[in-house]
Amino acid sequence: MDLYEYQGKELFRRFDIPVSEGRLATSPAEARPAAEELGGRVVVKAQVLTGGRGKAGGVMLAEDPADAERKAAEILGLDIRGHVVSKLWIERSSEIEEEHYLSVTLDRGEKKPLLMYTKEGGVEIEQVAAEKPEALVRVHVDPLEGYRDDLGRKLVGDDDQTLAIVEKLYRCFTECDATLCEINPLIVTPVGTVHALDAKVTIDDAALFRHPDFAEWRDTSAADPLEAFAREKGVTYVKLDGSVGILGNGAGLSMATVDVVVVAGGRPANFCDLGGGGSAEGVVDALEVIARDAQVRSILFNIFGGITRGDEVARGILAALDRVDLAVPIVVRLDGTNAEEGRAILREAAPPGLEVEPTMLDAARRAVELAA
Ligand code: GDP
Ligand code: MN
Repeated sequence: MDLYEYQGKELFRRFDIPVSEGRLATSPAEARPAAEELGGRVVVKAQVLTGGRGKAGGVMLAEDPADAERKAAEILGLDIRGHVVSKLWIERSSEIEEEHYLSVTLDRGEKKPLLMYTKEGGVEIEQVAAEKPEALVRVHVDPLEGYRDDLGRKLVGDDDQTLAIVEKLYRCFTECDATLCEINPLIVTPVGTVHALDAKVTIDDAALFRHPDFAEWRDTSAADPLEAFAREKGVTYVKLDGSVGILGNGAGLSMATVDVVVVAGGRPANFCDLGGGGSAEGVVDALEVIARDAQVRSILFNIFGGITRGDEVARGILAALDRVDLAVPIVVRLDGTNAEEGRAILREAAPPGLEVEPTMLDAARRAVELAA
């Protein structure tokens, strides 16, 4: 479960990690009194579950309450990598001298929490890792021994404020059963105060039963309109940031399809599992959900017939295409039980915009090409 920035900051506050004071707003009219209460310059920030909001125009400084109202109007409704902004976090603006980066993640390979720190914060951490790997300090924590001060010193050096934040962030990470706690940027102000300007937190879904107080947060994070629409339709769907829509029958195959699209040089727009059946209803619902994402430029439909028969799925696809108006091309890879019959059915009907490829990799390459 990914938390919004304002929720992550609420969590940080509970662990005594310094954050700016702020207010939530869902309309420009609400932004004005929020800015008034905070006083002075404020930052108006889009609350969406994706990074790079700053670059996308989702983070703006406002001089006064009237300006905050204007900026709020600009940011609300903005589409940031497929996430439409419906909530804003208005916080007291900070002066920035330096932007650092601090995170705790779960290193699954090492089976240990991993602390990461760099003074080159404020930009995407992947960029630092690629361009200046020596600037990124990494320190593992033995989960049984726990955090120790010397580990913190190895990570960030001797700055007391930063050291205290590392310890608190590690405590937040373990006590909340998080898989990610990231502060980017962790800023140093001109007067030398260190504090968290952003918060990115992911809680392990498997541990949510231990945190009933997070339940109310889940409801708001479920407010993504596409995922809500999918739930309404009973479609297993997770929104991603790319342009190749993905549909597979079975969770494992759908995951593999996501991977193959990446291997083919593309970016998946979603994860979507059709489940075991291949009925027209199921296909219609799934295609409607996937195609509703304006970022989708092509769809890859990957079917492996086991109990589900290829000819049935092929008929399901044709029936579905009759009923949904697809504005994007769809590439089908059909294998397994009755695949030959299924492919023949599709080839014969040859609906416009549908292509059939023999292998998963060929199909992924074609879908990526069509999305380019
Ligand atoms: P992200 O782009 O989604 O990671 O959003 P951030 O919360 O990290 O904000 C992006 C950038 O906006 C930061 O790296 C800062 O440079 C800038 N920013 C955010 N809050 C403030 C603030 O209070 N004052 C100033 N001057 N800049 C800010
Ligand atoms: Mn950030």
